[in-house]
Amino acid sequence: MKVLDDHNFENKKALIRVDFNVPLNEKFEVTDANRIEAAKPTIIKVLEDGGSAILMSHLGRPDGKRNPDLSLKHICAKVSEVIGVSVKFVEDCIGEKAEKAAQELKSGEVLLLENLRYYSEEEKGDEAFAEKLSKLGDVYINDAFGTAHRAHASTTIVAKFFPGAKCFGYLLAKEIDAIEKVMQTGEKPVLAILGGAKVSSKITIIENILDKVDDLIIGGGMTYTFVKAQGGSVGDSICEDDKMDLAMDILKQAKEKGVNVHLPVDVIAADDFSPNAKTKVLDVDNIPNGWQGLDAGPKTLENFKKVILGAKTILWNGPVGVFEMDAFAKGTIAVGNFIDEATRNGAYSLVGGGDSVAAVKQFGFEEKVSYVSTGGGAMLESLEGRTLPGIAAINE
Ligand code: AMP
Repeated sequence: MKVLDDHNFENKKALIRVDFNVPLNEKFEVTDANRIEAAKPTIIKVLEDGGSAILMSHLGRPDGKRNPDLSLKHICAKVSEVIGVSVKFVEDCIGEKAEKAAQELKSGEVLLLENLRYYSEEEKGDEAFAEKLSKLGDVYINDAFGTAHRAHASTTIVAKFFPGAKCFGYLLAKEIDAIEKVMQTGEKPVLAILGGAKVSSKITIIENILDKVDDLIIGGGMTYTFVKAQGGSVGDSICEDDKMDLAMDILKQAKEKGVNVHLPVDVIAADDFSPNAKTKVLDVDNIPNGWQGLDAGPKTLENFKKVILGAKTILWNGPVGVFEMDAFAKGTIAVGNFIDEATRNGAYSLVGGGDSVAAVKQFGFEEKVSYVSTGGGAMLESLEGRTLPGIAAINE
């Protein structure tokens, strides 16, 4: 892996793709600086070596037009505060003004460029635009995992203009490392816990990880397609009838590959999809009409606990219940607690992709698992086994 530590940035200008797509309030103040914090170690390394940093990012979706509400100047003060250096700002990301600002930058200084997506060429991956960006720095660093699955000008195409002078930032390297640990080098038994609403959105992940895991826990809304496919009654539970053949095929493939599949055996069923619904514990394959399964039941959690505590490498993607409602969050919290315990006993645990990250943050498991991915879509695509263009462009 081409990493930051192999480079010395003394008197070098580092052009760094960061993900500063942060939320702003109505006063244009940054309300969550996590993404800025996440890029800090990379920026500090460049500055401490005696180099200067030119930061480029997108913010929101200006769709190729200048939109003052989405100017990166709004976040300049916050970046200065987090990095501990007064950050300069330039109102463009390419062209004369940007080039002049980059040229004038001295060692130890930081320059923030205007929103890349003011130009439609950015998302199109336009080569001429990427070449203009490349004029700003001597070395290219990609530290934006959240956009690594996009072949945009600043995330992918620009890398070709830096042969021998490009590398991953610390954050992106950590993400790559986490994925490798789970998908390739993880200590056995390797367990994947897949939850969430639908089989259809997770199918490629399931098919890809069947070759990598020893155990697979299936939970959440996906459960009911598997249960109905095997002849169970799921009542009004969420179920994709057109995916039942697929579910049977997954179970067959798992058997052939020697993967132990663990499905819920009981559920917290509700008489309505609502926080105040009446609830009762039912067997997963015997849910009458008028009732729907919204969380994992007690016997299920006992089973999941044994599997989780026996695992040495754990991937968690997707909640095992409707965690947004307190009444149906207990299963997801319990799974988080089991993963916490397994991690304390020496297992490696990665949480990534979409809603599981929200659940982990909401319930305070962030510090308890080994790694929480910062990129929803990029992590999902990695778990599907795809090579991300932003990563390939550095490795080329
Ligand atoms: P995903 O983005 O695919 O990980 O799906 C996450 C969503 O799945 C969350 O919003 C959960 O509320 C939802 N979910 C989990 N379990 C169930 C269930 N049993 N019935 C309906 N939705 C569920």
